[in-house]
Amino acid sequence: MVEVGDRIIGYSTDTGVRNKGASGGLVTAVLAAALEKGLVEEVVVLKHISEYEAVPIITSDVNEVLASAGSMHTVPVNLAKYAVGKNVAMPGKACDIRGVIEQAKRNEVDIDNTYLIGLNCGGTMYPVQTREMLINMYEIDPEDVTGENIEKGNLIIRTRSGEEKGISIDELEEAGYGRRESCRYCDVKIPVNADLACGNWGVIGELSGNATFCEVMNEKGVRLLENAIEAGFIEVQPASDKAIAIREKVNNVMLSMSEKWSEKIFTEIPDSERTRYYMEQFADCIDCGACKEVCPACTCGEDSKCTMYHNLEDNYRMSMFHMVRLMHLSDSCIGCGQCTDVCPADIPVTTIFRRFAEKSQKKYNYKAGMTLERPPFLEVMPR
Ligand SMILES: Cc1cc2nc3c(=O)[nH]c(=O)nc-3n(C[C@H](O)[C@H](O)[C@H](O)COP(=O)(O)OP(=O)(O)OC[C@H]3O[C@@H](n4cnc5c(N)ncnc54)[C@H](O)[C@@H]3O)c2cc1C
Ligand code: SF4
Ligand code: SF4
Ligand code: SF4
Repeated sequence: MVEVGDRIIGYSTDTGVRNKGASGGLVTAVLAAALEKGLVEEVVVLKHISEYEAVPIITSDVNEVLASAGSMHTVPVNLAKYAVGKNVAMPGKACDIRGVIEQAKRNEVDIDNTYLIGLNCGGTMYPVQTREMLINMYEIDPEDVTGENIEKGNLIIRTRSGEEKGISIDELEEAGYGRRESCRYCDVKIPVNADLACGNWGVIGELSGNATFCEVMNEKGVRLLENAIEAGFIEVQPASDKAIAIREKVNNVMLSMSEKWSEKIFTEIPDSERTRYYMEQFADCIDCGACKEVCPACTCGEDSKCTMYHNLEDNYRMSMFHMVRLMHLSDSCIGCGQCTDVCPADIPVTTIFRRFAEKSQKKYNYKAGMTLERPPFLEVMPR
């Protein structure tokens, strides 16, 4: 019997999935079992195109789910909006899950019918830059790479020949490579906001690389795991005290790295300089609206407060569109990085929005996307 709070180590009983999976294929097997046994109608996963490219799909085909096994560190897609209006199970990094929770607060997602399997996340990288990094820093042909892993502050690259090469993330990032900026300061590495929190941290001994550490966060997590065990899709055993302590320790190392990056990036701007700072940051904006389109914390659609002020004839240096959005998202930006990823003018949109949101979220000890708790202020909801 599975209970909330259980910490187990498990893997897929299907050898193919176990070998293809990032660490034992437990996540794929749990998703496939949820579909097979009718816990959900559909599953969201990534369809692999190459080691550097994948597209999100929603499928009711168990074989497509099984084929999705494996972690794609160079695919910084956010899956949150794929859950909208569906009865699905989906994997996701902490930011994907935070996005789903923000969508649920806005009644776009029925959280009771959405099963969330969280993946520990040390960060994601841009595909083109990663290829360059592999050649220049690792001296590895990008086409030889079969997988990556983040362990003890190192980015480990695995090749076809079975070799592994690790370089410290600090060193890579000093050289201008490594994780996206938002991942560097992201401070949720274990997705405790999901139904299950899964990852390879804490998997030691002969199971290392071949099994997943999984924490059961709530009753939906219990259902997911029990369903997969009963269906014969996974095998599990309790995590040892040593495994639990190691996972905790690695998480703390990653969080202290995030803190260092936060201190480096979010330098204090005197109040008298603030308006100038935001105007300058958005001076090159071409008003394309892509940052709003991808935002998982935004559900307003076409008719929204910010688009009302999205007037290309504005003679303000900074579009009113951003002023409204900065206010609107100050209680709900989750720092997922998607707005920076899509900006054609190379504006660090995430860092600007996080800087603005940090002040209010910190003051009210509120972290968007972690629970269904309503934002503490700003939004005045009609009763
Ligand atoms: C970007 C990324 C970074 C990670 N970093 C760490 C880490 O630092 N420490 C740690 O302990 N664990 C990390 N993990 C989790 C770990 O790699 C495994 O996913 C986890 O241990 C489960 O293994 P598995 O074999 O059960 O998963 P699998 O059975 O291989 O299933 C993986 C699932 O993840 C989905 N997926 C793959 N790539 C992505 C992506 N980019 N975004 C969203 N979903 C995706 C796939 O569709 C699949 O459903 C990371 C995962 C990802 C995706
Ligand atoms: S923002 Fe956080 S959870 Fe999302 S990809 Fe980056 S490190 Fe992972
Ligand atoms: S504003 Fe940017 S970083 Fe914040 S939630 Fe929206 S897309 Fe993500
Ligand atoms: S994506 Fe960039 S250019 Fe487009 S509206 Fe947003 S900030 Fe402006």
